[in-house]
Amino acid sequence: MESLSNFTTLRVGGPAQKIVHAHTEDELIEFVKAADKSGEQVLILGGGSNLLISDSGFAGTVIRVESKGNALDYDACSGGMIEVSAGEDWDKFVELTIEKGFADLESLSGIPGTVGGAPIQNIGAYGHEVSETIARVRAFDRKKSEIITFTNEQCKFSYRNSIFKEESDRFVILNVTFQLRKGEQSLPIAYAELAMHLSVNIGDRAAITTVRSAVLELRGRKGMLLDTSDSQIHSAGSFFVNPILSQEIADKLPADAPRWPQTDGRVKTSAAWLMEHSGVSKGEKLAGAQISNKHVLALSNSGNATANDIVELAKMARAKVFEKFGIKLQAEVQMIGVNLE
Ligand SMILES: Cc1cc2nc3c(=O)[nH]c(=O)nc-3n(C[C@H](O)[C@H](O)[C@H](O)COP(=O)(O)OP(=O)(O)OC[C@H]3O[C@@H](n4cnc5c(N)ncnc54)[C@H](O)[C@@H]3O)c2cc1C
Repeated sequence: MESLSNFTTLRVGGPAQKIVHAHTEDELIEFVKAADKSGEQVLILGGGSNLLISDSGFAGTVIRVESKGNALDYDACSGGMIEVSAGEDWDKFVELTIEKGFADLESLSGIPGTVGGAPIQNIGAYGHEVSETIARVRAFDRKKSEIITFTNEQCKFSYRNSIFKEESDRFVILNVTFQLRKGEQSLPIAYAELAMHLSVNIGDRAAITTVRSAVLELRGRKGMLLDTSDSQIHSAGSFFVNPILSQEIADKLPADAPRWPQTDGRVKTSAAWLMEHSGVSKGEKLAGAQISNKHVLALSNSGNATANDIVELAKMARAKVFEKFGIKLQAEVQMIGVNLE
């Protein structure tokens, strides 16, 4: 039985009862249908960059999405509609769009994983989210055994969430269609650190190639790229989401805590800030698990961690934040066979 640690960026996870590799959309649907028919548990696996799988592994069929290909429908007025298979590598796709002169994905450079994984938690970085560019998502509905096309609105995107995450046992993403502008200028820069790095103001635009390089550099400094040269540190990126609080709870935070007002009147704060101000330190270790020495939000495998070590480290960080601020951090990473309670 093959170990799932070979398929996750955290490099933890026990054996899978069965792993199959879906190279085409048809194969993906057939594997899902067959597993559902025989009543097996199913785990859809993309790049494994947002997964924490237990040391006992997965007692069912793991279906790895490896379908490739994209189709560009270019119209000079509306820009490009690009339909991309779920198994394509996300960052290679972003790089390709920039090479071909399409804008809008530059801020999302360097995020690991697959194109099919991107809508699940509505990936975001540097003030932009993938939902800003998605026109349609085609998915296989396991409940109705049919293919459905979701419009952007039907995807119910919100901060690190979507209908696909809410109903994760139901929809298998087959491909995603992006609507991108043709052009050299980026979306308005929406993140202070990036604006400073580019020497522009928030709301300004810059060349898409320059924005991509800047984002890759900033991500590299924080250990937020999949760094194959650093074989000792493996992570799943940010382990916790930024909490969204009621105004009343946000008012109780210290004055210097980050506060990002939301359209619904609530306030988002920074999970990293809460951790750092609760005594969680970069580089801190618990058995083989470690708080990254570059970014406090990245819980890492320093070489020989088990999934349990990562869980214990996450629990420790969560307990410290709860004790200090009364806020329960929620995991961004999808957990299979483990939990933080
Ligand atoms: C170093 C690093 C940096 C990161 N930085 C960011 C960041 O800046 N912003 C951000 O938002 N995320 C970030 N992430 C998290 C991660 O890269 C994204 O969430 C990514 O989109 C996950 O895609 P994946 O293909 O690896 O999905 P996986 O980890 O394989 O799966 C994640 C979830 O999606 C489901 N899934 C995957 N593919 C499909 C499919 N085709 N159909 C249905 N379900 C599917 C899985 O079952 C699972 O529940 C980072 C991760 C790492 C390791």
